[in-house]
Amino acid sequence: MDLAIGAEGDEFRAVIRGWLADNLPDDLHDDDTDADALFERRRAWNATMFESGWAAIDWPTEYGGRDASVLEQLIYIEEMAGAGAPGPVNAIGVANIAPAIMTLGTDEQKERFLRPMLRGDEIWSQGMSEPDAGSDLAALSCRAVSDGDRFIVNGQKTWNSLGHRADWCQLYVRTDPSAPKHEGMTCLLVDMRSAGVDARPIRTIGGSLDFAEVFFSDVEVPVDAVLGEIGSGWKVATRTLGFERAGVAKLSLMLQENVDRLLADSGAERRRDPIVRQLLAARHTDAVLLRLLSQRTISAAMNGRMPGAEASVVKLAWSQMEQRVAETAMDVLGLDALSGGWGERLAGSRSLTIAGGTTEVNKNIVGERVLGLPREPKV
Ligand SMILES: Cc1cc2nc3c(=O)[nH]c(=O)nc-3n(C[C@H](O)[C@H](O)[C@H](O)COP(=O)(O)OP(=O)(O)OC[C@H]3O[C@@H](n4cnc5c(N)ncnc54)[C@H](O)[C@@H]3O)c2cc1C
Repeated sequence: MDLAIGAEGDEFRAVIRGWLADNLPDDLHDDDTDADALFERRRAWNATMFESGWAAIDWPTEYGGRDASVLEQLIYIEEMAGAGAPGPVNAIGVANIAPAIMTLGTDEQKERFLRPMLRGDEIWSQGMSEPDAGSDLAALSCRAVSDGDRFIVNGQKTWNSLGHRADWCQLYVRTDPSAPKHEGMTCLLVDMRSAGVDARPIRTIGGSLDFAEVFFSDVEVPVDAVLGEIGSGWKVATRTLGFERAGVAKLSLMLQENVDRLLADSGAERRRDPIVRQLLAARHTDAVLLRLLSQRTISAAMNGRMPGAEASVVKLAWSQMEQRVAETAMDVLGLDALSGGWGERLAGSRSLTIAGGTTEVNKNIVGERVLGLPREPKV
């Protein structure tokens, strides 16, 4: 691994650190105020970042980024995390939807959508999952029928992050039910204010409103809303890999922050107990191991290799380690860990082994692409 950050890095670090010191507001964290008001403060912060080119430094300059190197991305992630600065409000849009628009979209789509997305002026959600299509995305049944100039969309999506706030949805639909399931899918960029769209927020076990189920009833969508080609929805779905090559560092920094918080909250008195000490040492070891894993992935990216299945290993390890931290907090802090920040982390951590590919699906990827095991039998 070669992660030496030289003078070039120092200079870049000083620039981003100075900018954050001058511009980062101190009211961007959840302090039990109204969730809508907090979202709008974060949206305003997003616009501030965009105006100075700090919203997504990995994006190409022409769309509002900085074409940043992997090293600069790594420094940016460290400085943003160190300052407690939230990233863009369109987290999924910026990381996953935009790369697909950049590589497969028309010039009109790039011009129309990318900058408002990065600035946070328009909120995006991703409509993939359905009640009967999750890990097996190609089983989706939300239907779009074309009459030449437009599609008529009918069906349901679920677990759409930001779905209840979204202005636009990257929607995956079935356009040809007679084709093999991976070939009959199309991706549409759908205006969520269209007649017939009904986004119903879902409240999570942690109490927050993070996503929605969305119903489409005879929704009219123009044909120029197709992203890529009609029937190429599967290709679009697999073309969401972003430009960010240092993203895994965020996961390891988040875990380290939670482990440090647990060490501080446990207090000197509890830490005298040998069992508590052993539990805390195990969580600290997790954090060190994840840092090494993420450094290996970043090192591969710095040496010009695309992070592929290696990123699945980090995601897999991180999600399970975060769950262990929350569970250890219960063991160490007792009832105190059932409410407040630890209560939220305990409830919220359950979703980490589902979102962005479940543990089992990631294990399949690692088994097949890293370990070279035989492919999963197709039913
Ligand atoms: C926080 C969060 C945010 C999300 N945001 C979005 C979003 O913005 N847009 C969106 O479209 N979706 C979103 N999702 C949904 C997410 O993509 C799905 O939950 C995920 O793909 C799993 O699908 P599922 O829930 O239908 O479970 P299923 O796919 O039905 O899986 C059920 C169980 O079977 C296992 N399983 C499935 N297939 C296999 C296999 N081949 N081998 C072994 N085991 C298997 C799974 O691991 C799981 O344990 C989000 C989910 C979460 C938790």
